[in-house]
Amino acid sequence: MSDQTATPPPPDVALIAPRTCPVCTYTFSAAGKGDQSIATAPPHPGDYAVCMCCAVVLLFTETTTMRVMSNAEWLRLPREMRTQLTEMRERIKTLPKDLAAL
Ligand SMILES: [Zn+2]
Repeated sequence: MSDQTATPPPPDVALIAPRTCPVCTYTFSAAGKGDQSIATAPPHPGDYAVCMCCAVVLLFTETTTMRVMSNAEWLRLPREMRTQLTEMRERIKTLPKDLAAL
């Protein structure tokens, strides 16, 4: 039975084609901006995300895959973005595992 009453995602979260984290194999089908602005779908190659399960920073690729952001790519991010991503990673790491795996 399908769920016809599913709640649509908030405006800063976009539904995307399923992607798998290359580190923990968590599969996700939504990506958010985290800043309350409108998220775009599909994400552009080079856009980044934080895995909700293992908190690794990932990059969207030209295909429907993702890869781990390199240290050099991390250091090229603006300092404010690195701070925001680090805070996001710390929040994810404190989530109960069963909640992070939703
Ligand atoms: Zn992961």
